[in-house]
Amino acid sequence: MFNKKTIRDIDVNGKKVLVRVDFNVPIKDGAVGDDTRIRGALPTIQYLLDHGAAVILCSHLGRPKGERNPQYSLKPVAEYLKGLVSNPVYFADDCIGESAQKAAAELKPGEILVLENTRYYKGEEKNDLELAKGLADLADLYVNDAFGTAHRAHSSTEGVTHFKPGVAGFLLEKEIQYLSSAVENPKRPFVAILGGAKISDKIGVIKNLLNKADKVLIGGGMANTFFAAQGYDMADSLVQEEAIETAKEILAAGSDKLVLPVDMVIANAFDNDAEKKCIDAGDVPAGWRVLDIGPKTVECYSKLVSDAATVVWNGPMGVFEMPEFAKGTFAVAQAVADSDAISIIGGGDSVAAIQESGLADKVTHISTGGGASLEMLEGIVLPGVAALEDK
Ligand code: AMP
Repeated sequence: MFNKKTIRDIDVNGKKVLVRVDFNVPIKDGAVGDDTRIRGALPTIQYLLDHGAAVILCSHLGRPKGERNPQYSLKPVAEYLKGLVSNPVYFADDCIGESAQKAAAELKPGEILVLENTRYYKGEEKNDLELAKGLADLADLYVNDAFGTAHRAHSSTEGVTHFKPGVAGFLLEKEIQYLSSAVENPKRPFVAILGGAKISDKIGVIKNLLNKADKVLIGGGMANTFFAAQGYDMADSLVQEEAIETAKEILAAGSDKLVLPVDMVIANAFDNDAEKKCIDAGDVPAGWRVLDIGPKTVECYSKLVSDAATVVWNGPMGVFEMPEFAKGTFAVAQAVADSDAISIIGGGDSVAAIQESGLADKVTHISTGGGASLEMLEGIVLPGVAALEDK
């Protein structure tokens, strides 16, 4: 249940509304690449415009580390937005101060103002309240629709609510609803699939999901550390020595739910053209490393996914950047797409895999926030959400 006020609960007519969006999109040679995040914010933006608001958008883009750097300017995003909406779109070359204040003051209902990158200020990531006040002063109301940064207490996500009441936009609401109902109130069987390089990034997630899910399927480099914890020699595989003790604890506590690969694809070099072979899970020969899950594992995981009523997937099953070792990840993407379950995918790599496979429309919900979705799976309340007005 989403217990925060949303834009449906407030009167925005004639108001200036500051909306924190997640316009942190890839920019190459001044052009917007994947525009998923921009499109994700459109329902909120359009609703506000249609209900008589003047919409002031703020976001970060990349990591300019507190300095003005044209490489991280939101200007190309503002230009791009002009092609997606029929309303006028203006750009202010600062997010606070004179130019932002003037542009915000002149903005009329039905118009959009895009502010320059909030991370041009060092204070943004420190939740500096002066910066937050500068942003809040531009508008009458504040809306957070930036799920991708809702796990960070920054000036534009949390600080600003100290000065203006904040409510959720539709994207934030949708993300939280899907992720929290999957974790807190799942239709069962609930199967989670976790992959990626490091176990350490996802220990909290694994522990929480072992409590909530019926099965937690492990793939990717992360599985190696579990095998090492069981005493297998993983040879040149990526293993996180410092996480072996934790892996042992997780294995002991979650043995009935944790599912590890039964076979794996190994290679004699970290190279797409390396010699490769498939072996059953266990000792890896000297000079070799695990780079993907094997076909028996794919079959087993696909079966568990097809029997599930809820599936959550985060992280690739192997080094999917190399086509020879992407098969496990793409097979899991196919299994998730084929299943009738409520399916939720988070994390940049798994989202990329499902999009590359052309299967994205077969998934119930693709999260726009990797880190934020992981924190939701970990059961953490996101500070950017906690700061909003209760219903
Ligand atoms: P993460 O950011 O933790 O989700 O990890 C994603 C990265 O994990 C991708 O770049 C993959 O190439 C990498 N990865 C997945 N499986 C393996 C593996 N078996 N060995 C090394 N790296 C892996």
